[in-house]
Amino acid sequence: MEKYSQIILKSGKDQSLKRFHPWVFSGAIKEIRGAVNEGDVVEVLSNKHEFLAIGHYQIGSIAVRVFSFADSEINQSFWVDKLTNAVSLRKELLKPETTGTNVYRLVHGEGDGMPGLIIDFYNGTAVMQMHSIGMYRIREQLAQCLKDVMGDELKAVYDKSAKTIPYKSDVNPVDGFILGQLEPDVVSEYGNFFTVDWVEGQKTGFFIDQRENRRLLQEYSKGRDVLNMFCYTGGFSFYAMRGGAHLVHSVDSSEKAIELTRKNVELNFQGDERHEAYAEDAFVFMKDIKDKYDLIVLDPPAFAKHQRSLGQALKGYKRINTRAFEQIRPGGIVFTFSCSQVVTKDKFREAVFTAAAISGRNVRILHQLTQPVDHPVNIYHPEGEYLKGLVLYVE
Ligand code: SAH
Repeated sequence: MEKYSQIILKSGKDQSLKRFHPWVFSGAIKEIRGAVNEGDVVEVLSNKHEFLAIGHYQIGSIAVRVFSFADSEINQSFWVDKLTNAVSLRKELLKPETTGTNVYRLVHGEGDGMPGLIIDFYNGTAVMQMHSIGMYRIREQLAQCLKDVMGDELKAVYDKSAKTIPYKSDVNPVDGFILGQLEPDVVSEYGNFFTVDWVEGQKTGFFIDQRENRRLLQEYSKGRDVLNMFCYTGGFSFYAMRGGAHLVHSVDSSEKAIELTRKNVELNFQGDERHEAYAEDAFVFMKDIKDKYDLIVLDPPAFAKHQRSLGQALKGYKRINTRAFEQIRPGGIVFTFSCSQVVTKDKFREAVFTAAAISGRNVRILHQLTQPVDHPVNIYHPEGEYLKGLVLYVE
């Protein structure tokens, strides 16, 4: 008897796996041998029955998410090796002990060869977010493996998958601690402090992926009047303040986000009068900001979650960027982002280009930004490159 149930692909459908792309689409499957339940480990074979890969089976358009291209035994030590690899990469590249940073992404799905698994580290607590049933089923094993890898440094593991598990699946995920327990805490990023609420907050509690871009913004902030649009927990705002901004206005449509921003600014700059926060819609707030700011950050939520909303999303990017270009003071700088996976770098650039053209201003690209090293992109899985940013100089 074979180790795992087998998925046999149609003729010619093995090409992308041979190029190490980690997904098998349901349309590529010719036959399933053996009983397969959602979340099971399966072996993928070509039409000629050559071994190709091992992954988790799922009902849906992506039928298998591959985590091994070798014929390995998928056991405790397999996951320990994967996690060791992920953790040591962060330690080596981020040197968290020496940079005043105790919040970073430990596992970035396909980027770490573990599709369906996200783990963020918040000063002792790992917050896991599973996007596949296979990973969800083994969450306790994964938490234990992570504990084996990190030892005393890891105090607690919180599972926050209720919103990310495919909703049609036959599991009823409930968020909660699966190892230890720590209260939401203040964490530090390059010596800036944030209150992180992984229970109520967006994503796993904090937008870790903007760390290096926030730091770059600090370099451009001196003496400037800064608008941080879509501020969420206020990250860009206090980097701007640290960089010597003249004033900083943080705006988000969510009252809760504004509360968090105010709290975080107080934590870092008690009583500093340079900062104001407004709970308001971006499109309303930006109607009338003519010559008010000379540094504008636009970091909206993913305007497109699916291919079918791409057109709408591009219109959204065009609209807000046009407002910024039309109204920023001469010599102003715009940091503009898109975190929609379906909006490619080129499409985003095109939307920003159109906005610049509408404004009629002379606009130059100073930096092209992306996600940081703890969100690595698997070169065989270009879909993993989701964060795009441009820093623009507006004459
Ligand atoms: N820049 C942030 C992350 C932004 S996430 C950081 O560095 O942490 C996107 C934010 O946009 C969310 O907080 C959401 O509440 C806010 N948002 C969504 N739609 C909005 C709108 N129409 N106007 C203003 N804010 C909006």
